Amino acid sequence: MTVRTRFAPSPTGFIHVGNLRSAIFTYLIAKHDNGTFVLRIEDTDQERYVEGAVDTIYYTLDSCGLTWDEGPDKGGDYGPYIQSERKDLYKEHAHKLVASGHAYKCFCTPERLASLRDKGYAKYDRHCLHLTAEEVQAKEDQGLPYVIRQKVPQDGSTSFTCQVYGEITIDNKEIEDQVILKSDGYPTYNFANVVDDHLMNITHVVRGNEYLTSTPKYTLLYRAFGWDEPTYVHLPHVVKEGGKKLSKREGDAYYTDFVHKGYLPEAILNFLALLGWSPPTNQEIFTLEELEQAFTIDRINNSPAVFDIQKLNWINAQYIKKLDTQDLIELCMPHLIDANIAQDHDEAWIESLVKTFQDRLDYGAQIVDLHDEFFDQEYRLDDEMNEFLAQDGVNETLQAFRDLLAGLDAFTAQDIKPLIKQAGKQSGAKGKMLFMPLRIATTASMHGPDLPQVLALLGKDTVLERLDQTIK
Ligand code: GLU
Repeated sequence: MTVRTRFAPSPTGFIHVGNLRSAIFTYLIAKHDNGTFVLRIEDTDQERYVEGAVDTIYYTLDSCGLTWDEGPDKGGDYGPYIQSERKDLYKEHAHKLVASGHAYKCFCTPERLASLRDKGYAKYDRHCLHLTAEEVQAKEDQGLPYVIRQKVPQDGSTSFTCQVYGEITIDNKEIEDQVILKSDGYPTYNFANVVDDHLMNITHVVRGNEYLTSTPKYTLLYRAFGWDEPTYVHLPHVVKEGGKKLSKREGDAYYTDFVHKGYLPEAILNFLALLGWSPPTNQEIFTLEELEQAFTIDRINNSPAVFDIQKLNWINAQYIKKLDTQDLIELCMPHLIDANIAQDHDEAWIESLVKTFQDRLDYGAQIVDLHDEFFDQEYRLDDEMNEFLAQDGVNETLQAFRDLLAGLDAFTAQDIKPLIKQAGKQSGAKGKMLFMPLRIATTASMHGPDLPQVLALLGKDTVLERLDQTIK
């Protein structure tokens, strides 16, 4: 049997990283077994529909490389893949359940339902279950609107097994006769997901653990139809340290929040794949193909998955280190433009800037901080630096370097590099006694990226000026 999984987002806006994590696991479960990954758009809640959200879903999956095999835009044997285009199917199936005695029409008005709630009823009181066939007919003849409700057995309990959370049992008494088809002809999520997963031949239903407690209702629906249930895989919540929610306000809820800060899709994917799944070895950097190979359901954990931004930064930094120059420029450029840095420099300068800091970047936007740290700070030596420069022989080293630099026409890292050694030869300084004074005098810092590169970025005038200032 071919494994078939589906990602079933609702088009309500940007994609939450927890939701994207579900998409990744869903994709990997299918691909580990050479199975089929289906994209289904769950737009039955028309009130929450957001214009453009379907394109956001396409863009997000595409940019992470999660290619779907079947979906609204690609077609497939089990379409349509948009729930609002499947209304007839839900209607037909809801009426089948009415006919087989597993569901009933309910004509209760919103006012009556509200008064039940006011009286303290936790669930619908099954009023319309007791209507006679004639009463139902009479109400229909009057054109009264109705919903269809699932008829839940009153005694016993319902159990199902989740691959991650084990066996879950709920007393049937606790389950409401939920609405499966609304009066406008739209199904509820609770009904549509069952009908679709069955008709689309889905073998593994993968979704967030907020659906664990509703699943017994689905089990009862599968039984009412006489259908086999899929394998269930519920995923732990993604939370921040201390169990806090990722939030829109703090800019860490949506995939696009991270992309806009200069995180790479491959790195986000790699990071999210490790949220709730532990690889069989201590490997941490994975390509999508490697994840497909390594991913198995038995290594999904059921404790909350902690979104550790330090770890994301570390993973992203590994990917940034491997970027070629063009991609690196592309990653940093929007941030340099926003910060009004790019406007003041030519392309070659930008290129050396980003290359100089490539190994220090956790994410694209950081280029601005690194730039400011080096080029915007006031040039000021602290006591430790002054002490270093006061040592014997330092003045001679600085002077030799200054004179060599002054003779350069092109002030590139390549031209500057050999002059450091040459200055050492002339002054007799070696190792730390050679490099440290030059770094301190030119950058007012005791550490930093490759010195010739930094000097080239600072430019000849600034470097000579600073050296003159420190040479006594
Ligand atoms: N449309 C549901 C959601 O976005 C899908 C849940 C499921 O995968 O069944 O949460």
